[in-house]
Amino acid sequence: MMIPKKLKVIEVGPRDGLQNEKKNLSVEQKIALIQLLAESGFEEIEATSFVHPKWIPNLADAEEVISATKHLPINLFALIPNEKGYERAVKSGIHGGTFVLSASDSHGQSNLNKTTKESIRELKILYSQAKQDGLLTRASVSTAFGCPFEGITSLERVRQVVDSLVEIGFRRIGLCDTIGIANPYQTFEYMSKLNQDYKQVEFELHFHNTYGRGLANVCAGIEAGVYSYDSSIGGLGGCPYAPGATGNISTEDLVDMAQAMGIETEINFTELLKASELVSSYFNKPLDSQLWRTNSLVALNK
Ligand code: ZN
Repeated sequence: MMIPKKLKVIEVGPRDGLQNEKKNLSVEQKIALIQLLAESGFEEIEATSFVHPKWIPNLADAEEVISATKHLPINLFALIPNEKGYERAVKSGIHGGTFVLSASDSHGQSNLNKTTKESIRELKILYSQAKQDGLLTRASVSTAFGCPFEGITSLERVRQVVDSLVEIGFRRIGLCDTIGIANPYQTFEYMSKLNQDYKQVEFELHFHNTYGRGLANVCAGIEAGVYSYDSSIGGLGGCPYAPGATGNISTEDLVDMAQAMGIETEINFTELLKASELVSSYFNKPLDSQLWRTNSLVALNK
């Protein structure tokens, strides 16, 4: 197996995790979490979303969270779903935007109220604005492997979306397994082909662990040459379309696996565990991470 020297881990727990948790945290709790995560050594953290508070009340405090954390020595990203969200995000002083669209029309319509084509049109405007405003940019393609309404997303469909994003100017493109149904074979097939065809693009992968395939998918992604991964502290989150489903792959497990494989992540594990413990105390429940489940965190920490 070919392995890279370094894996980039992008922490998305404060956004993807918290938006799907039943319990809403206070602004102070979120700020404390982002501070601890920043101390763990992440280069980038997706800290919140500027989606309308009516849709995601948990993240209605996006402005407050960003204004209290933007001085930290990391790049803070926020999910930006539309023009209104963009205006709020820029005003808050965010460093980077994760610009979303869905690979499938029905998910796009239910989630963003837009077909894929309509999203592309809007992203074109937002991308050029973001460039003018000096923001870091990454695109994030939901349902890139499968859709709760349409089933498996074909590679052809993903290619069409990537083509449009590349044409707009995006060079960082995240493919998201929104409902956690990707498998290692599909991941390897899609990513090795896409990596070959779009040499100018840095692909990022975003897996949910709904069926426990998350880390296996990461390995398939690595094998295909993708070295950037989103993950969530404590495996926070859920999926609105799959009751009982888990959240993102857990950052602790991802970092631990990378270390075991001899791949550098530049995350300080001891510091990361402090963030884990904080999250665990917030939610007063065992975290959705193998390390926590098997209690080996305690052993590793000694
Ligand atoms: Zn997600």
